[in-house]
Formats: sequence, C-alpha cells, structure tokens
Amino acid sequence: MTTKHRVAVAYGDGIGPEIMEATLRILQAAEVPLVYDVIEIGEAVYRKGTLSGIPRDAWETIRANRVLLKGPITTPQGGGYKSINVTIRKSMGLFANVRECKSYTPYVPSAYPGINMVIIRENEEDLYAGIEYRQTQEVTQALKIVTRPGAENIIRYAFEYAEAYGRSKVTCMTKDNIMKLSDGLFHKIFDEVATEYPGIRSEHQIIDIGAARVAAMPERLDVIVTLNLYGDILSDIAAQVSGSVGLAGSANIGEDAAMFEAVHGSAPDIAGRGVANPSGLLNGAIQMLVHLGLGSYAETVRNAWLCTLEDGIHTADIYRVGLSEKQATTEAFTDAVIERLGQKPDLLAPASYQNHPIDVTRRTYPTQRKELVGVDVFLDWDEANRDPNVLGKRLEALSVAGLPFATLSNRGVGVYPGGMPETLCTDHWRSRFLSDNGAIHFSQVLELVARLNDAGLDVIKTEHLYNFDGEPGYSLGQGE
Ligand code: NAD
Repeated sequence: MTTKHRVAVAYGDGIGPEIMEATLRILQAAEVPLVYDVIEIGEAVYRKGTLSGIPRDAWETIRANRVLLKGPITTPQGGGYKSINVTIRKSMGLFANVRECKSYTPYVPSAYPGINMVIIRENEEDLYAGIEYRQTQEVTQALKIVTRPGAENIIRYAFEYAEAYGRSKVTCMTKDNIMKLSDGLFHKIFDEVATEYPGIRSEHQIIDIGAARVAAMPERLDVIVTLNLYGDILSDIAAQVSGSVGLAGSANIGEDAAMFEAVHGSAPDIAGRGVANPSGLLNGAIQMLVHLGLGSYAETVRNAWLCTLEDGIHTADIYRVGLSEKQATTEAFTDAVIERLGQKPDLLAPASYQNHPIDVTRRTYPTQRKELVGVDVFLDWDEANRDPNVLGKRLEALSVAGLPFATLSNRGVGVYPGGMPETLCTDHWRSRFLSDNGAIHFSQVLELVARLNDAGLDVIKTEHLYNFDGEPGYSLGQGE
C-alpha cells in the first residue's frame, strides 16, 4: 500500500476557498495518496489580533508536515500586519522560489507561442531582507544582503532543477557591472557552480537587457536564476507575456520544507462569485506532487488539465470568443478536469515528470583570511554650503596615526579630493580612512571616531573595511 504524505492546507482569502476546493477535488478524484491537515491563516487571523496572520497551532502543523499547500492571502494594509508569505518563507528557510512560465497557444493567446521557461529566484535575501534606515534629514537607505551560502544554494538549486527536468540552459541575471561586490558575488558563484554541471549550458546576462529579452524573446530562455528583487519583477513579466497570470503555480523550496501556491493573489474583486480560475493553484499543487515524489500523479492531473484547455473549456479570465468552446464556472472547469483524468493532450506537449530528487543540501566553503584595513565613517553634515573641500580638509586634519584620511564621497561619488563642482551633495557623507601600512587594530577606529565626535562632527554610522585573502571587501566611490 502507498504511504500517504500529510500536507498542511490553508484555504486562504478572497477566491482562495473556491480554488482550493477545486484543486483538492481534482487531487482526490485522481486518488493522489495525500492526507490534508487544514490550518487557518490569513485575514481572519489578522483580524483576531495576530499580527503575523499565523496562529501557534498552524505553525505546529506546518512544522510537523513540512509541506504546505496555500491559497492566496489578503494582507491588510497598514496596522503593522506582516506578510504571511514572507514570514513563512523566511521562518522555514524556503530559499528557492520556482515559477514555471509556459504559453498554451493556440488555446490561451500569447504573442510568443514557444515560451517554456522557469524562473528560479532567491527568496530570502537581497533588498527583501527589509533592513532600512533613515540617517539624516535627506537620506534613507536599504541594505542589499547577498551571502555566499544564500547565492550558492539558489544557484546550485537552479542547476539541479535543470538536470532533474531535462533542461539544457541556465541563465544567470545580475547587475554586477554596477554592484560589483554583491551582484558580483552572485555571478562569481554562478560561474563556479556551473563548472560542476558540464552537461548544462550556462550564460550570464545583465538584468536590464535580460529583462528586455524576457519581454521580447522569451522563447530563447530556459531556466533563469537571479536575485530576489530582479526575480520578483522578472516572474511577473514572464507570467504576463506567456498570457497566463492566472495559470502559473509557484513553489517555495527549502532544505527540509516547502510551500506551494498560485502566482496570483486573492482577487477580492471576483471572490465568492464562482468564476475564479483554479489553474494557478492546481499547477502549484502539481509542483507539490513532483516534490513529494508523486510524479506519475502529477502527470495524470496536469495532462487532464491540458486536455481541458485544448477542449476549449475556459474560465472567464481566459475565455475568448472564437478560441474557447464554453465559458466555465470554477466548478464546471473542475468537473471538466476530473472527467479528463487519464487522457493525454493532442497538441500541447504532455507532461512528463520523472521523480528525480533535487539535492538541496547546504555546502560548506573554505574560510578566508580577514584583515581590518580601514573604516568608512558616515557623517550628517550640513554646513558651509555643503562644500566638500571644507569638510575634506577638516577630516584630513583629524586622521589618527596609521589610519589616514583617504576620500570623501556623497551618494557614492568621490567629491574630495578632486571632486567636480556639479555633483549634487546631500547631508549624508562618507569619509574613508584607509591604512597606509597593512592591517590596523580596532582601537585605531575607536580613537578616530572619538576624535571626529570631539571635533563636533555628527557620526551616524561606521562600516569596517576588510581585505579577504588580500582582496578588498569594499567598493570604491565613483570617480575615486
Ligand atoms: P490579484 O492577483 O489578486 O488580482 C489581479 C487581477 O487578476 C484581478 O483582476 C483578479 O480578479 C485577477 N485574478 C487573479 N487571480 C485570478 C484567478 N485565479 N482567476 C481569475 N482572475 C484572477 O492581485 P491584487 O489585486 O494586486 O491583490 C489582491 C490581494 O492579494 C492583496 O491583498 C495582495 O496582498 C494579495 N496577494 C497575495 C498573494 C499570495 O498570497 N501569494 C500574491 C499576490 C497578492
């Protein structure tokens, strides 16, 4: 007898209950060996005063089952409510977001009939770490966090995915021509990991031209791996050009837990009317079956769904006069999929999911020699018409032994010595003090900061400058 996996199920808000009911009805009709533990998360829980939207007993079920099938959630505006998606992704270490984007022409119109790409997005880091500050009257700041283990995990996952699903190319997209350290690390690790997968082609594209290609020639792309923010934007572009915002599923995968959902939200505008398309959540559930090693069930369900599209039974969002046969309610669409279980599509490529395990084990890497060689002291300074020469000369005079003043920059542009009068200077300054003779001691940094403070300068933060195996771990200001 097949062992039944237990999965946690959250119906969600808005159209969530309608599309979850449809999805579970199809899985049950396909006799998928699953047991469902229903949890309550989302709007009702927020309203009861739990700011995370997830009560303790729901967490216990999620943690016990390790797999969650989730309907879309409405995050109430304001009031300190936290996004459930972000909370679950981060708390459960779901580092990989996987969105498959396909076109289903001629049944669902798309300008690009050949789209078959997967966007694998880093899910926990980058600007989405949500670490932000306001330090002066004029300046706010968000930290972009890119870590070696984070980048390595997602990049390795992308190659593992490509191998498991018989895909031939992985394209990495970054902006490392500008962010040489953070995006540069991601690109560097991509090049390293790519050598371990010689059977898969690898390439790198700068994100701006990469995004243009996703929009204009998506059929040339296969697997894309990228950082959190770029991936968020790219996956919506990709879903849009494939003509199928309501059709795509989304998987969030961690080392020992996973969450599956639709790409779209809770669609409050059509909630309760029985017209929502359940396909996005169904496709998320199909990704879940593959993840659980139930590939043959995934194939059966997906093929029945493809047959339904081919037979022109379409919900309102994809219904087109002349292309569709019948405009179906959520319930009628669900019945049509169930009727087609066991059939294979004629024109659309039938699904084939072999049960390849994807290795998501975290790797270790060698430690590098780290040396403190300087400090950036950030100042809030709004005197002398913000003339960089005035501040620069003061800072030169305040250097401590072995830690001389090097440069002054404003918004990342070098302004002293040798700046240009046209550069706009805000009240937020970065003064760099760099060793002239190898490693320094932290006490020199403390002495310097005390001296600047005693001189009446408003020190708002410091950033240490380290070399790693002799390589600078800090960027230069533009023009430096
Ligand atoms: P949305 O995706 O809910 O809706 C956008 C448009 O697409 C609407 O016109 C909607 O009717 C339509 N649509 C979406 N899904 C559909 C479906 N299955 N069938 C037919 N039409 C569908 O995006 P939104 O309106 O920006 O967000 C609504 C709420 O959903 C917000 O509270 C937002 O925070 C939340 N949201 C949740 C998730 C999630 O839980 N993963 C994702 C995105 C948005």
